[in-house]
Amino acid sequence: MFISSYSRVFSCMVDQAMRLKDFSLEEMEAWVQTLGHKAFRGRQLFQWIWQKGVQDFDEMSNISKGFISELKESATLNVGNLMDVQTSSSGTAKFLLGYPDGRHVEAVFIPEEKRVTVCISSQVGCALDCDFCATGKMGLLRNLSSGEILEQMLHVRRYSERPITNIVYMGMGEPFHNYDEVLKSAYILHDELGFGHGARRITISTSGLIPQIRRFAEEGHRFKLAVSLNATTDPVRTTIMPLNKRWPIRELIKACQFYTERSSNMMTFEYVLLKGLNDTIADARRLVKLGQQVFCKVNVIPYNEIGGTYSRPEDSVIEAFLAELSNAKFPITVRWSRGNEIDAACGQLSTLRLSEKEG
Ligand code: SAH
Ligand code: SF4
Repeated sequence: MFISSYSRVFSCMVDQAMRLKDFSLEEMEAWVQTLGHKAFRGRQLFQWIWQKGVQDFDEMSNISKGFISELKESATLNVGNLMDVQTSSSGTAKFLLGYPDGRHVEAVFIPEEKRVTVCISSQVGCALDCDFCATGKMGLLRNLSSGEILEQMLHVRRYSERPITNIVYMGMGEPFHNYDEVLKSAYILHDELGFGHGARRITISTSGLIPQIRRFAEEGHRFKLAVSLNATTDPVRTTIMPLNKRWPIRELIKACQFYTERSSNMMTFEYVLLKGLNDTIADARRLVKLGQQVFCKVNVIPYNEIGGTYSRPEDSVIEAFLAELSNAKFPITVRWSRGNEIDAACGQLSTLRLSEKEG
């Protein structure tokens, strides 16, 4: 399915070194054949890069010396650099990656008792401008390529002492605004010759881009889908998420119904709790009504403050909201944030302070 982009990548990079991490398995096989090698050499390269995570061509022990010299001349292995790792007392760690064009993104490692989650970024910044989100304040600087998305995982995997169990596209950016590269990367996360993660352990979160939700449903991908609902009325949702003007709640619910019916998969609604805006008992009741229209669970995220005008409700308000929600027939989870002390919690990622300012 990604073969079609191969000729595009190839033609625009003939004078430059090939970025091997941006290749799907099929693209890698096709490329090695253009150099006169058998397709299985492409599979070996792919495995060295993702399954084994080598950082140097010389570590590829089953590849001939001749081919390695050829690779060194015509291709690059690493697309970015690990610039910094910040750790918090909870074990959460935030990774800063830098790219040759001066852009940066962050990825977050979240070890918990029963699972080890990695939260990855899909764009440098985000165009959707949700008013409460630190990434939104950056605007969109650019999309990440599939290789740039996946390299975040390599760095975190190298750091982690435990196997990674879950991957969430909930870092910087709107995954469905970078649909093709995100899906390409998700398939490499899933591929046995890539990272080998179960499709149900990979979650793509969208702010609610309806055409892409429908496309995702129609294409029948098995990755999990999360949608950031964040409000129960259009006026409030439009205030905090400008995309709601174009894609209002009723249409969003219909698209989610379409997805769950097509896929038979349960989806997740994320609901960021913002003090005085969407945290009343009436909101909780409307959320129950909305949620009951879709095969879903609801993940409540008490707001992580970013120094702006929004704040997190008092604990008593959060508790009352959750108590009212417990009347619902769908499951409810709460994401009590981890990593606040290093600004690594949901919606706190921003690399604005770095060179993007000048970029
Ligand atoms: N762009 C995608 C994925 C990245 S944001 C999306 O919006 O779904 C991941 C989640 O973090 C979203 O549910 C978003 O609503 C939430 N979020 C953003 N800023 C937040 C903050 N400061 N505190 C808590 N959650 C936040
Ligand atoms: Fe973008 Fe998601 Fe932040 Fe909205 S919440 S600005 S869609 S990253």
